[in-house]
Amino acid sequence: MNNLQKAFAAAAPGIIMNLQRRNMEGYFYKDCKSMVEDILSKIPAGSSITWGGSESVIESGLMDAIQNKDYILLDRSIAKTPEERRAFYGKAVMADVFLMSSNAITYDGELINIDGNGNRIACLAQGPKEVFIIVGMNKFVGSVEDGIHRIENIAAPANIQRLGKETPCSVLGKCAHCFADDSVCSHTVITRRSSHKGRIKVFMVAENLGY
Ligand code: SF4
Repeated sequence: MNNLQKAFAAAAPGIIMNLQRRNMEGYFYKDCKSMVEDILSKIPAGSSITWGGSESVIESGLMDAIQNKDYILLDRSIAKTPEERRAFYGKAVMADVFLMSSNAITYDGELINIDGNGNRIACLAQGPKEVFIIVGMNKFVGSVEDGIHRIENIAAPANIQRLGKETPCSVLGKCAHCFADDSVCSHTVITRRSSHKGRIKVFMVAENLGY
């Protein structure tokens, strides 16, 4: 591990303790390989799995790892029409496991997410039996305010580039607090605790993932 990774590893036990205070479970891994192996061991065969759009989940190797296993994969990309998407959402909220990342997370254990449609943060708050959150060390911040600043000026502009949408941040590279039709910033959700002990599990890795 390099010095940044060693520093994050040193912070991890405190983060896990802070997540526990908030009824969430935290797990730390030195690399994505060991994280993905452990995540698979926590999902029983036959489970239904769905996910919110996340570069972190893809980059970690988890999306590849769940293919061709004894899981029921609920892929929202197969829903093409508004009716199909609505029907899919009904299935997604009943899934056993929801995979996502968090746009930012404080060392104190608060999850910070900003969403366009809201399906991701809705499933985080309620619905799927368990929520598995995959986060690289680049997502950790000192405060909720730092997290929102990070999302508005790093995560959302990069996401807009990925999606090819037209917003002020697609031109400026930073947030202009727009109300554009293409905005990916409709809902800001701070998860300060879970009402269901252990439902939200945070998998932290000493690598950079997503943005
Ligand atoms: S400019 Fe609009 S879409 Fe871009 S980060 Fe700000 S609110 Fe979100």
